[in-house]
Amino acid sequence: MSTRSADVVILGGGSGGYAAAIRSAELGRSVILIEENELGGTCLHQGCIPTKALLHSAEVADSARTASQFGVDVTFGGVDLEKVLSYKNTIVTRLHKGLQGLVDAYGITVVNGRGRLVGPNGVEVDGELITGGAVVLATGSSPKTLPGISIGGRVVTSDQALVLPSVPEKAIILGGGVIGVEFASVWSSFGASVTIVEAMPRLVPNEDETISKYLERAFRRRKITAKTGVRVTEVTQDENAVSVTLDSGDVLDADVVLVAVGRGPNTASMGYEETGVMLDKGFVVTSDRLRTTVPNVFAVGDIVPGLQLAHRGFQQGIFVAEEIAGQRPDPIDETGIPRVTYSHPEVASVGLTETAAREKFGDKVETVTYDLAGNGKSQILKTSGAVKLVVAPTGVVVGVHMVGDRVGELIGEAQLLYNFQVDAAQAAKFVHAHPTQGEALGEALMAVSGKPLHVHG
Ligand code: NAD
Repeated sequence: MSTRSADVVILGGGSGGYAAAIRSAELGRSVILIEENELGGTCLHQGCIPTKALLHSAEVADSARTASQFGVDVTFGGVDLEKVLSYKNTIVTRLHKGLQGLVDAYGITVVNGRGRLVGPNGVEVDGELITGGAVVLATGSSPKTLPGISIGGRVVTSDQALVLPSVPEKAIILGGGVIGVEFASVWSSFGASVTIVEAMPRLVPNEDETISKYLERAFRRRKITAKTGVRVTEVTQDENAVSVTLDSGDVLDADVVLVAVGRGPNTASMGYEETGVMLDKGFVVTSDRLRTTVPNVFAVGDIVPGLQLAHRGFQQGIFVAEEIAGQRPDPIDETGIPRVTYSHPEVASVGLTETAAREKFGDKVETVTYDLAGNGKSQILKTSGAVKLVVAPTGVVVGVHMVGDRVGELIGEAQLLYNFQVDAAQAAKFVHAHPTQGEALGEALMAVSGKPLHVHG
């Protein structure tokens, strides 16, 4: 068997893997990055980037449709999905080329093939043994389905939904989490009639309850139906339609069913367990230093239990590279990682929900919900929503939760408040530019500090 070696060998070239590769190269390490598909992984090819391109086309369609509300005379002629997909593909291709160039410029060796961990220091790829001083597992995740529901034909996951050749007239989405509400948003803006089926009692159940209520209200106004607290018992299809039976007894028909019930880790048949890497429900068990149960084997990204977000993958990749280089970086606080859902309206949050904060700090937790009805810029944009602050008994901001168009752009300030453990009364002194949506965060800070301005206290 031929062999090659490097200081760091990385299995998987997605957000976590390539970040580990680039940071290791910056730190002077030789790196071999093994990828069976294309560099960039789910985020670049099937996730963040293509879906946000679709969401942007959806926003443009909505702007055209509602232009007259702003006094602009536009005739909305419809959505040309072929052109939408071509716009989306152009963005992905350009970023992919950029990434390839970057990896090349850092002198990282990319091996194209499917790797298998064969020992604490070795990965086998197409009959070649690649050894490293350290090995980083970064093999990502794939869409899950439900027992008895097979993917194919009219039943799709987000992978196929991204490349559908036409907009469905009627769509049912199983799962009202992040993928579910983003696709509901896109398809509704493109003209589809959309029903979401969510097993939990509310949409985006991982978010603060107040935010779910606002989102559900906004979706109702958009005529997106949400059936919450119900489960699917059967999905059947023929050449004309697909039919979904719910445990409530309802039977729904549609052209397409999107299964968006979570993503599972890609850890099977890659030699992990055989080499001694402990798994739990398929996820790789790690310490807070992202070390697996095998010395010098690390794991990053969606295979590590927790938030499945590209920017968490980047941060973990950087962390592991620095850990391997002996720099002892600070462990990553998962709660401080910002979360943004790019639906219309958007949802953005960081830190603890009110419920989680009350569990941790007791009844003296304070909250304030500032409705965007009091925010001039939001009124100009004709968006509704809210900014909710959760404040610990010490006065420190421990949660920021937002809903409304463009609130994803406010998460930068919100995450500084949380991560620097800022005192709400101190932060209330920061002046926010008028008129911006950022003012809503400022007003919420003033309100929670007992001196509201544009709201009656
Ligand atoms: P998710 O966990 O966000 O949502 C899945 C939803 O499906 C949950 O609300 C769950 O209660 C529901 N569900 C589970 N079983 C069900 C059933 N039998 N019937 C009805 N509903 C059921 O997962 P997702 O939306 O598939 O997204 C996968 C991952 O990708 C997430 O971790 C997400 O954070 C990530 N992602 C992030 C973004 C973003 O950050 N903007 C966008 C897309 C995906």
